[in-house]
Amino acid sequence: MESNLDAYLDNHYIHRSNWLRAAVLGANDGILSTASIAIGVAAASSLREPVILATLAGLVAGASSMAAGEYVSVSSQTDIENADIQREREELESMPDLELQRLAEIYESRGLKKETALAVAKELTAHDALGAHVRDELGINEISQAKPIQAALASGTAFTVGGMLPFLVTFFMPLETLEYSLYGFALLFLVILGAISAKTGGSGIGKAVLRISFWGTAAMGLTALVGYLFGVNVA
Ligand SMILES: [Zn+2]
Repeated sequence: MESNLDAYLDNHYIHRSNWLRAAVLGANDGILSTASIAIGVAAASSLREPVILATLAGLVAGASSMAAGEYVSVSSQTDIENADIQREREELESMPDLELQRLAEIYESRGLKKETALAVAKELTAHDALGAHVRDELGINEISQAKPIQAALASGTAFTVGGMLPFLVTFFMPLETLEYSLYGFALLFLVILGAISAKTGGSGIGKAVLRISFWGTAAMGLTALVGYLFGVNVA
């Protein structure tokens, strides 16, 4: 039975921040880097097969490197958190009075009167000393705690889903205008993604869409330019 507290917390955007950030970053990267590779090769080649092949290779390489990168970076955050928690455990054993004082000062700095702060620190220490210090001194809590596998899976899957969209475009759209179709569809996917992530994260949709359209156009424009320059040299 979900408690009122759980329902109340679920209602806050911060609860969605971890997987949302990894998923949006992954999908955005999937769309943009896969579409850019496809546009670059399409601009240089007059055949469809090389475009499909390069896009698929970019999709697989991008998804695996995104997941690996996220896993490694979040794992190192976990290592840091665990080292901090272990040190906290040792400090609580070696100097419990100083630690109690430190906790009381934290509550005082958050607005409690000196006596109330000390009383709260004593009660929470009696209840779960390490838990209180990890949460209120180190700032590590359930929401912010690093989850490497979750983050790697979220970003790897999101990259793949994002990259599949331009990949499908390379199959079905006319070859003569493939660069423009890729650009148009990629921009459409990016705008939809920008709007969804802004809405889910509770921030302004307009700003998010403008930002993603500008940088998306810049990235795809640059690879198209390289493709054309390369194409002219090869043909
Ligand atoms: Zn402490």
